[in-house]
Amino acid sequence: MKQLKGNPQNVNDEIIGKVTFNEIGLLSTKKDFVFVVPRVAKFPKRYLALLTDIDNVDIELPIILGIQNLSQLNEGDVVLITTDGIINVLYEIRSAHNAIMATERCNHRCIMCPQPPIIHETDKTDFNLKLLSLFDKNTRNIGITGGEPTLIGDNLFVLIEYIKKHLPNSSISLLSNGVKFADYEYSRKLALTFHHDLQIDVPIFSDIDTEHNRIVGAKTFYKTVEGLYNLARFRQKIGLRIVVHKQTYKRLPQLSEFIYRNFPFVIHVAFMQMETVGLAEQNIDELWIDPYDYRFKLEEAVLNLARRNVRVSVYNSQLCILPESIRAYAKQSISDWKNIYLPECEGCELKNECAGFFASSENRHSKNIRAITYTEA
Ligand code: SF4
Repeated sequence: MKQLKGNPQNVNDEIIGKVTFNEIGLLSTKKDFVFVVPRVAKFPKRYLALLTDIDNVDIELPIILGIQNLSQLNEGDVVLITTDGIINVLYEIRSAHNAIMATERCNHRCIMCPQPPIIHETDKTDFNLKLLSLFDKNTRNIGITGGEPTLIGDNLFVLIEYIKKHLPNSSISLLSNGVKFADYEYSRKLALTFHHDLQIDVPIFSDIDTEHNRIVGAKTFYKTVEGLYNLARFRQKIGLRIVVHKQTYKRLPQLSEFIYRNFPFVIHVAFMQMETVGLAEQNIDELWIDPYDYRFKLEEAVLNLARRNVRVSVYNSQLCILPESIRAYAKQSISDWKNIYLPECEGCELKNECAGFFASSENRHSKNIRAITYTEA
């Protein structure tokens, strides 16, 4: 997530609030706001906290001083300020990729997990309800991620019900490994939230049970399959996600056939280029393959599904390394705050449509990146 840093003063506890650049009249509403103080303003009172680029101020309110890049914040963003002066931007009003993290715990240990799970934590539900209460009412989509969100049990439904009631215009993307939905009653409870636009996206890494289990670090292939069938039984919207790396690329065509034969109810299948952070970075020698080198396996898998009218996407991939036949399936899927382009992209005519790179890919990316010009495209 996007982070800013400054020098804390009077910040004795974490503070979560909505960013505003404008003086708010009503005292009652100020308690939710973090005020960004322009350089020449006199310092207002009664806000949760103040953010400023000024270095020294004598004031009793919690304040972060000397912030270099305040212009990165926007009216309506939501920030978590920590006692060491870090400002974490938990919600970006201009982003299409906002999410809450239901838990950092997980019952899988995927070898390429970008965010390694933790074992112990205090329940985040109250914090997440507070965070959701600060989201803009027109937010179009909210991700519920983890860790594995179903590990918070029925509190998952508390979050969904809250979004349904207070953010009625938002669709929900729930990222889950699907294992918990093998529990018929749990799947039923999800269906009974009757959210109007909820999609559950579930990763599957192989058509071979032992291969999938090895990659996720748990013997759960058949639980996930059972979970998918239960969700389908309750008419839930289901997507599948396949992270492509050295251990999954060879059987992409067979996996696509397996998906078509066994999960005809899924509404979307996404093939994703791997993000090389977290466990993926630690296990990089076992995982890395230049995405250019698996392009034909990917093409076969994508077209195998697409020609049977399965909605299919390619996430996180650069257009110049995809066969032309599947470029139309590529999506700009990388969250804004970690999205970069390389010097090689200079002058590329497809840059506006291209997903670009994860910031972490700056030093590890395909060796075949080259700008596309109109004459080539
Ligand atoms: S050169 Fe850069 S912008 Fe152009 S297609 Fe390749 S990665 Fe995308």
